[in-house]
Amino acid sequence: MDKICKNKRSQNMSKVKSFGTKPELIVRKLLFSMGFRYRINVKKLPGKPDIVLKKYNVIIFVNGCFWHQHKGCSKGTLPKTNKEFWRTKLQNNIVRDKNNIFKLENDGWKVLVLWECELEDLEEIKSRLLNFIIPDSKDHKEYDRKQQSSFK
Ligand SMILES: [Zn+2]
Repeated sequence: MDKICKNKRSQNMSKVKSFGTKPELIVRKLLFSMGFRYRINVKKLPGKPDIVLKKYNVIIFVNGCFWHQHKGCSKGTLPKTNKEFWRTKLQNNIVRDKNNIFKLENDGWKVLVLWECELEDLEEIKSRLLNFIIPDSKDHKEYDRKQQSSFK
């Protein structure tokens, strides 16, 4: 492989990466609009979770489908060139993700993984978030009431 080729690849990589941060913003905005407060990119915790809701013991990862190899997702397809390189690299990501989630759950956190490709239906994501963060439906009513009164 020559140098130019290498440079080009790292350029492409940074493009994919910066695009990958956007889904996280969508989820953050959504949570905020739902009245939840959170911390972001908490370095102390395994995997440096994207979103941490300490009050609810909830951690949310927003995964790019390519970098975290979303199973069965078209965005998770390996590039045609340097297939072995990517396979190893992305396989490592998968193992790391699994280990991090294992550690977090072991420490008593509830971990939700959202995938980039799922973020097209925000209403759906909203109810998934609510059900995950506040699983008790009695508390949902309380939450709805609060939300409505805050709009008045
Ligand atoms: Zn996907």
